[in-house]
Amino acid sequence: MHIAIDLDNTVLDATTAHITYYNRASGKALTAADIQDFYIYRSYGWNQEERDIIYAKHGHDIHWHSAPYPNAADSLRQLSLQHELSIITARPMLFRDVTIDWLNHHKFTYTNISFDENKLEACIAAKVDVLIDDAPHYAEEFARMRKPIILYDQPYNRAVTSEFVLRAANWVEVNRHIQHLATGLK
Ligand SMILES: [Mg+2]
Repeated sequence: MHIAIDLDNTVLDATTAHITYYNRASGKALTAADIQDFYIYRSYGWNQEERDIIYAKHGHDIHWHSAPYPNAADSLRQLSLQHELSIITARPMLFRDVTIDWLNHHKFTYTNISFDENKLEACIAAKVDVLIDDAPHYAEEFARMRKPIILYDQPYNRAVTSEFVLRAANWVEVNRHIQHLATGLK
């Protein structure tokens, strides 16, 4: 299969790293429990422009200091033996180098990486069989197109349900869904 994989809050804990730097920038003391929105900056009352300034300043540190989720790197290494793995992140190209350095540092294995916000289009163009992501809007787009998506469970995506949305609470469950899909495609 050709599997596309998101980074933030799918293979790594982006929420904790964002909160650390956003708290420093704002003087607030939010915790992960306060984040109920996919767009973390909204919990700080910032508009997009305010967020862009903070992100440009701290984005490198946020991305470098994000912790991988348990079993994520091992899972990609195992999956790479049988599948084509394309990392697709909506991060801007500004953070390309730190992203690739981080993936190498944590021993992630993958075939390709691209920086693209329009994941549905990118997945169709690259003939991707399944996307693994946490974003509720991608899950809704994929479900509408009747394309399977493995949705990495997060507090802000629980309202999304569809027969095409396969929810996974951890990487053991992600692997279980992939095995199931791969068997169905044979
Ligand atoms: Mg994400």
